[in-house]
Amino acid sequence: MTERQPAAAFPPPGHNHKSCVELALERAERAFEAKGLRLTELRRRVFEEIAGSHHAIGAYDVLERLGAKGTRLAPISVYRAIDALLSAGVIHRLESRNAFFACHSAHAADRDQLILACGQCGRVAEVPGRSVFEAIGRALRQARFQPDRTVAEVTGICGDCRAR
Ligand SMILES: [Zn+2]
Ligand SMILES: [Zn+2]
Ligand SMILES: [Zn+2]
Repeated sequence: MTERQPAAAFPPPGHNHKSCVELALERAERAFEAKGLRLTELRRRVFEEIAGSHHAIGAYDVLERLGAKGTRLAPISVYRAIDALLSAGVIHRLESRNAFFACHSAHAADRDQLILACGQCGRVAEVPGRSVFEAIGRALRQARFQPDRTVAEVTGICGDCRAR
């Protein structure tokens, strides 16, 4: 299966973000289908809020934005939708900020991706980092340490912000 992917981890400012969202939505539909689940109306709307930019947003912001559009929801409904989107792999959690961002690349497992967060424009991107996780795995085995979660987030300044 071939998938179109954005050329850069951080797409250039002024890119057609509508097409990012469309692609991400298509992938989300397939991901839910593959798990025998449905991308319900609520899940889709939550996903669209999160995918609306390349920034990470918190659950409360999702709730507020939907509220501003006239959809008042109980926080628990939004949390549940976010959990479903997380486990389908179509959004990820930016652990350091407890916020969520949409996945814009077609990768297999979360643990293969490094997460880059720009402190200037606030965008979040993913890059392949399998060898990093393999090295961490080796170090953990040597330490006889059983991990439950490995977080690989790098904060810094993206190329577009540096060029400014
Ligand atoms: Zn975009
Ligand atoms: Zn991803
Ligand atoms: Zn930036």
